[in-house]
Amino acid sequence: MSLSRGEAEALDAADPLAGLRQEFDLPDGVIYLDGNSLGPPPRTALARLSRTAAAEWGRDLILSWNLNGWMEAPLRIGGKIARLVGAEPHEVAVADSTSVNLFKLAAGALSLRPGRTTLLAQTGEFPTDLHILQGLAALLGERARLRIVPEGELIAAIDEDTAALVLTHVHYRTSRRWDMAAVTAAAHAKGALALWDVSHSAGAIGVDLNAARADLAVGCGYKHLNGGPGAPAFLFVAERHLGTIRQPLTGWLGHAEPFAFEDLHRPAPDVRALTTGTPPILSLAALEAGIDLHLSVDRAQAEAKGAALSDLFIALVEAGCPELGLASPRRAAERGLHVSLTHKDGYAIVQALAARGVIGDFRAPDVLRFGVSPLFTRFTEVWDAVEALRDILATRAYDRPEHRARKAVT
Ligand SMILES: *Cc1c(COP(=O)(O)O)cnc(C)c1O
Repeated sequence: MSLSRGEAEALDAADPLAGLRQEFDLPDGVIYLDGNSLGPPPRTALARLSRTAAAEWGRDLILSWNLNGWMEAPLRIGGKIARLVGAEPHEVAVADSTSVNLFKLAAGALSLRPGRTTLLAQTGEFPTDLHILQGLAALLGERARLRIVPEGELIAAIDEDTAALVLTHVHYRTSRRWDMAAVTAAAHAKGALALWDVSHSAGAIGVDLNAARADLAVGCGYKHLNGGPGAPAFLFVAERHLGTIRQPLTGWLGHAEPFAFEDLHRPAPDVRALTTGTPPILSLAALEAGIDLHLSVDRAQAEAKGAALSDLFIALVEAGCPELGLASPRRAAERGLHVSLTHKDGYAIVQALAARGVIGDFRAPDVLRFGVSPLFTRFTEVWDAVEALRDILATRAYDRPEHRARKAVT
């Protein structure tokens, strides 16, 4: 299948979500295909940030903790994220970073499965997930064993010592999507828990943690949720584990009564026990605006448009850029919202595209990643981006020293 630019224009004209683009502050002349790494700012987020800084921090000062709902923000916003990931509001809290939340919940998984010591993961996962598990296992010594098996061997490796498997729902490099319900059921069949990282799926595709019987989950606030650079992350604990789960970062705001100022830590009976210290209010203000925007959108329409955009991207690339490999599954139901292509000069190609205003990213050794968003990507942008890619490949415009020089962030 290939499609003319006029046909892409017709798709935009018929798109029921086209108006949402106006909600984002995107610069002219840029085709942004990297919302899977850093979501762009909703206009409401920028307004919320200035209001929270000037009116709340600036005028109400410390009274804001009570007056402006600062204290409740982590659970209030967690409750909103719950609606995007198929959880109950009291099962989700916003806190810390994805890395830190994974540390807490992986330790928490061990606390829920006394007598079992293995945390099971697979190679090729997003590095922080494996690195955090390595740090936790080193800290716990004999009480925990980290087993990292080759990709594809995870389910067969679950055994009677497995406390939990830790797995990313949508893979950062390939966009491959796991069947969350099936993998969770395989873990449960052996008495193990499933801890999911939904960083690349929350706000992007349908996620239904409770329908899949997931036990625990972590996810990122600054990718598809548009929370802003370094936005706080979220964590999910299924209701059946709340009150029982224990985590080691027992800070004062996870205490049952923080303002009793007790010497001994008594964990809160609810999901607050998984939070640690003072929440980053300015970042939460931006994140809440991003979440509110997502909640205003019809999920079924968003999912259908996301699949259509990424399907179109693949079809155009396959028709126009035969020298590129496809590292993502071809069926939309088997991937997230980014499409991964391969080329040995991938880094230089991504740089050459950026010089033409098309922003994707590169993941070593040879993957070019392009993310679409049903909230702000236009069908014509997908068409124009692939046309730029086709031209850069045909003319070898990427083959210049300035495109090959590696920057710190790829
Ligand atoms: C983006 C991402 C993270 C981010 O972790 P930080 O603590 O925010 O740096 C973690 N895991 C996965 C799978 C991700 O995609």
